[in-house]
Amino acid sequence: MPRLEIDINKIKHNATTLKELFAKKGISVTAVIKGVIGSPEIANAILECGISTIAVSLVQNIKRMKESGVKAKYLLTRLPMHTEVADVVKYADISLNSEISTIKLLSDSSLIQGKRHKVVLMLELGDLREGILPEDIDSVIEQIILLKGVELHGIGANLACFGGVKPSEENMIELSQTADRIQKKYNIKLQMISGGNSANYEWFLSTENTGKINNLRIGEAILLGRETLHRNKIPNLYTDAFTLICEVIESKIKPSLPYGEICQNAFGDTPVYADIGNINRIIIGIGEQDVDTKAITPRITAKVIGASSDHLILHSKNHIEVGSEIEFDINYSALLRLSTSPYVKKVFI
Ligand SMILES: *Cc1c(COP(=O)(O)O)cnc(C)c1O
Repeated sequence: MPRLEIDINKIKHNATTLKELFAKKGISVTAVIKGVIGSPEIANAILECGISTIAVSLVQNIKRMKESGVKAKYLLTRLPMHTEVADVVKYADISLNSEISTIKLLSDSSLIQGKRHKVVLMLELGDLREGILPEDIDSVIEQIILLKGVELHGIGANLACFGGVKPSEENMIELSQTADRIQKKYNIKLQMISGGNSANYEWFLSTENTGKINNLRIGEAILLGRETLHRNKIPNLYTDAFTLICEVIESKIKPSLPYGEICQNAFGDTPVYADIGNINRIIIGIGEQDVDTKAITPRITAKVIGASSDHLILHSKNHIEVGSEIEFDINYSALLRLSTSPYVKKVFI
């Protein structure tokens, strides 16, 4: 079985380093561990570093952590569905929101459960995933203030996730000034002004004034040690906390160019290959079902040529024995799929 080795101490080092860095400008870290589907082991390791809020995108992942005894404050990153509001109130302390119809349902559900759910309103700043348009924010807040079951806990923004829009001095000032204006206009205190995610790293380093922003929701930088605008390594962090290890199931010298009439492959593409003569073709027992094969890099001198659902093909410089193991570095989309797959064993070291 392919296995994902997870070095908990490297993740703890990353979490502690980032927590201390962001604290220098008054910013707390919410650790986003949706990339490891809310692993209770990883959640506990991060909590030991003094980070108190754990975030995931699925309410089921919060349920699993709670059932494993993980004691944290939980934030749900994905906007709740109408059909899951009862579970969101039951398991999450805070959720990110942009739809008043959903917030009303959260309030109703909270009243039934005898709770007061915390809502963070997301503001659209140009990335065009979730967020209330700036011209609509006041009317939404006026409606939220009347709801008995929810507390307006803060406002936030999310950039660089869909549109690739960079967190800048301008859009962060817009978020900060919006928070300031709302607090004064409605005479309320917003606890959380959450400026974004791992893509905010460069903004954080370069800005002289973080304004009212007091929180970032950090996932990839903790898990994989990179900022996410250019995928540059963040100084002093580990990028190899995760290692994918898989077995060689065929190893032969074969042509580089498929022969016969070429039509579509397993995924409907018509592949084009260069003829570079005979090569060491290594087949590994993993495929698209369990990992994004474009998002892994072998730690030996070899290149991923392609993959089908369950086979990964490498061009290796050297001969490799059938039955030997190959280690890979992984990036975020590979981590996500490996974490979700029941066919990949997770091993903590
Ligand atoms: C995934 C996500 C994050 C974390 O993003 P990273 O790039 O992993 O730091 C933060 N906020 C929201 C709303 C998210 O969906």
